[in-house]
Amino acid sequence: MNTAKAVTGQDPQRLSLREAIDAKCKACIYDETEPGRWRQQVAACTVTSCPLHPVRPVPRLREK
Ligand code: SF4
Repeated sequence: MNTAKAVTGQDPQRLSLREAIDAKCKACIYDETEPGRWRQQVAACTVTSCPLHPVRPVPRLREK
């Protein structure tokens, strides 16, 4: 199964660029046995040489 399909459950041809980047990072680093939600684990990614690093998903700030 396609990685994007496995991660998002959506047809990869219909993903937005944001959804595709999110899916790639989640598939790359997320480990459900490790602490933190997937966005927290992606935010903690230290692979600065990765082209997606500057645009990786990070936890959303809560509005007050
Ligand atoms: S930014 Fe980090 S988590 Fe995202 S694809 Fe690159 S190495 Fe993987």
